[in-house]
Amino acid sequence: MLRDFKQEIKDLETLHLRRQLRIVESPSDTTITFEGRRFIAMASNNYLGLANHPTVKRAAIEAIEQWGVGAGAARLISGTMTPHDQLEQDLAQYKQVEAALTFGTGYTTNLGLIPALIDRNGLILADRYCHASLIEACRLAKATLRVFHHNDVEHLQTLLKKREKARPILIVTEGVFSMDGDLAPLPDLLTLCRQHEATLVIDDAHGTGVMGKNGRGTIEHFGLNPRDVIQMGTLSKAIGTGGGYVAGTAALKDYLLNTAKAFIYTTAQPPAIAAAASAAIRIIQHEPARREKLWKNRDTLHTALTGLGFQLTETQSPILPIIVKSSETALKMSQALYDAGIYAPAIRPPTVPKNSSRLRLTVSSEHTEEQLETVVTAFWKTGKKMAVI
Ligand SMILES: *Cc1c(COP(=O)(O)O)cnc(C)c1O
Repeated sequence: MLRDFKQEIKDLETLHLRRQLRIVESPSDTTITFEGRRFIAMASNNYLGLANHPTVKRAAIEAIEQWGVGAGAARLISGTMTPHDQLEQDLAQYKQVEAALTFGTGYTTNLGLIPALIDRNGLILADRYCHASLIEACRLAKATLRVFHHNDVEHLQTLLKKREKARPILIVTEGVFSMDGDLAPLPDLLTLCRQHEATLVIDDAHGTGVMGKNGRGTIEHFGLNPRDVIQMGTLSKAIGTGGGYVAGTAALKDYLLNTAKAFIYTTAQPPAIAAAASAAIRIIQHEPARREKLWKNRDTLHTALTGLGFQLTETQSPILPIIVKSSETALKMSQALYDAGIYAPAIRPPTVPKNSSRLRLTVSSEHTEEQLETVVTAFWKTGKKMAVI
């Protein structure tokens, strides 16, 4: 008998936790079209406007003309084309490491990376707020998994002291936390790694292109040496395309392409997407003004929203989460903003802990002052009406 799942969906509905797809009728930009109506888009990770940038599009179009659409095979069989190799060289140069290896998505990068680094004999200590892909990857690795309180170095230290000697250890964190926008205390984590002979793995999905003087990521922000850690990231956020990567030593790359199943047993990324990602990385490096504008926009919106009395997380990035606690309030407020022409979706459990539902805004370098003013006014009106402020 086939299940009809009706009760399960009804239960989610009752808890205000049912999710539904919305069909977008426009490219990723500062406005978004649903059902023929345009909204100001406050929910994209396209931080630098590169997903729809003419030069990035041109690179993809030209690569399609030259290389076709599909790669035709896995990377190790016959799927590694010149654009894939070029992208890995560009990533290594950008991240200032020896080598990079790309994967189909950021999610599968984590699924490939973590189980290749550690097995059932090892211990993984992961921040409680790590992305679902990291947690899934840790489970897949079969190592003992212990979760430390979010950004709590003392708690991590306690767990490290309890460990059995001679066990390989990975400490896993995000650079910029995706749902809270705060930063991991990377210098402290690295010190602990040195003391306990552990390896630090950083998911810099939201840091890449955004953090650091040259946009190299959270490692650059903290002035750390990229050679001291293993970092991964995605090409789908500030880089505006799709795919994921690991950046590290040439030996790590060699080892991963021989062992990471999520790399080996999947078809190579379409070559045009690799070419587009290379073009985007060049823009990130040559146009620092984009990042400056991103931060200016971020500070404008952050100052305005906190000034109105909204409760934001301890964010230090262009991710601006406004905590409203209940899922119901989050949904209602999101709907009221939608009615006012603003797209700011509610983020609810299980993506975030219980009673911490939020509206998660992301700013882009491309938002105009006028758009941000409209957003602030709409938040002020709906926040008052719903007694959130
Ligand atoms: C988005 C994200 C991923 C997944 O990347 P995709 O390319 O979207 O699959 C992994 N980790 C973190 C922290 C993310 O925010």
